[in-house]
Amino acid sequence: MKLYKVKKSNIDRNGRGLYATKDIKEGTRIIDYVGKIITKKQSDESEKFDNSKPIYLFNLNSRYDLDGDFSWNTAKLINHSCENCCDYEGQGLKLFVVAIKDIKKGEELTCDYGFGFDSEKKSDTFFKKFPCRCGSKNCCGYIVRAESRWRINKRFSLSVKN
Ligand SMILES: [Zn+2]
Repeated sequence: MKLYKVKKSNIDRNGRGLYATKDIKEGTRIIDYVGKIITKKQSDESEKFDNSKPIYLFNLNSRYDLDGDFSWNTAKLINHSCENCCDYEGQGLKLFVVAIKDIKKGEELTCDYGFGFDSEKKSDTFFKKFPCRCGSKNCCGYIVRAESRWRINKRFSLSVKN
């Protein structure tokens, strides 16, 4: 039995999200984040990763990125929350979603999309394109955090200076 199911999201009112189908213990690997492995050169040159798609591009290592923007990547439906219960973890060129706290059955699975603020020197204009409506008490209003291991490709941030 899968640990998750897809249904209409409480966070993204126009979209879907993933929900726990049973209680999940901290540290459990919930779902693989799958996509196509592309070279840095390919992600640099692709027009796909304009301002609307950066959240699906992961930095795997110094040579490769993972493009997760495919309908068969169910993990991409996981929404961002400032009080996230899951996080992305990597091993080699593989990426998966892991519970970072105990999750109750029926809870929406959430990750921190991890736009680093100070480390990547993104402008306010950039963040305004990514408002957060997660509804948690500590919500800062935007999809940001100070540090993230699997954060958005750094070179992307260079192209969104306004
Ligand atoms: Zn929030």
